[in-house]
Amino acid sequence: MRILSPFLKRVFYPALSLAGVYHRTSATGLAVVTYHGLLPEGCEPVDSALDGNLIRAEMLGRQLRLLKAHYNVISPEDALAWREERCKLPPRAVLLTCDDGLLNCLTDMLPVLQKEKVSCLFFVTGASTEESRTRLWYEELFLLFLRAPAGHFEISSAGVRIEGDLGSRGERREIWWSSVKRLSQVDSRARALFLQAARIQLGRNTERDFEPHSASCRRFGLLTRAELQELASAGMTIGAHTLSHPMLSQLPPELAYAEVSESRTRLESVLQKRVWAFAYPFGDPQSVTPRVLAMAKEARYEAAFLNFGGGLGTALPPYALPRVHVTAEMSLAEFEAHVSGFYERMHRVAGRGTQGAAMTQGQASK
Ligand SMILES: [Zn+2]
Repeated sequence: MRILSPFLKRVFYPALSLAGVYHRTSATGLAVVTYHGLLPEGCEPVDSALDGNLIRAEMLGRQLRLLKAHYNVISPEDALAWREERCKLPPRAVLLTCDDGLLNCLTDMLPVLQKEKVSCLFFVTGASTEESRTRLWYEELFLLFLRAPAGHFEISSAGVRIEGDLGSRGERREIWWSSVKRLSQVDSRARALFLQAARIQLGRNTERDFEPHSASCRRFGLLTRAELQELASAGMTIGAHTLSHPMLSQLPPELAYAEVSESRTRLESVLQKRVWAFAYPFGDPQSVTPRVLAMAKEARYEAAFLNFGGGLGTALPPYALPRVHVTAEMSLAEFEAHVSGFYERMHRVAGRGTQGAAMTQGQASK
């Protein structure tokens, strides 16, 4: 399938799209789409492992118009009503979701959603219940490793020691991803202290990405409490995405459960609204184990979302709802192949599901 991939992308998916094959099939169920915010105007991609899931506003508009023309885009409230068995899904139902709560969700993505008159379920972390702006720890770590001078490094802080040799981009990606796993094993305080030490040791090279009011700040900054309230007031629904975005499978169980459960109570207190949905950070098979799945149910969410698989016709276990993970390299035809369930069915026929198939380290989810 890997060898066939360029052919599928360039010839096969567009040909079927032109022929209208995807939206003529009668697949039922629900397709859930995951975005991760947009790449704002004035920002260039850094690395596919870091921002391969950010699309431009123009592509979002095209995808939404395609969905509105051939599918039924349901609101998050409709999805809740379906989960609570108060209503049935319309045929060819699609739910829009977006993870992480980057500032550009409000500044760049919301205007496109409003123009197309659709609503989205935004999953945010505990960072967006705070007054001051922060950024995702693993994104900053990526930039630190990417820009640090080549050579050996060793960082030791709050009981975490990471060392390695920074050389090629591939090596830096590998060190970053193993560090994400290692730092997911400790609490958010120890992680923050490690980041502080890493900034000093690797060269304080990320400060320019965080200047207020810059395109870069919209790319890397997280929503503050007031901005989150603004997003909710604009008619968008807010779900939980843990307190500090760790890889839950790596954390001791009591800390992992607190991340799942307390993110809900904090959001409910800030929004004065029920928070019923949860999205697993990273959301890939490595980070979402059966133990982690059980936590979302125990914390009394109505639904919890993965970050792979998905498309119409796929199974919909309420605490492991699959989602179509949108990437920057996905053409409109490929996007529809995923949403319609065609991609998943094709992989099933070929003898493998997409569980993790589209996932390379880090690039996939977040
Ligand atoms: Zn995330």
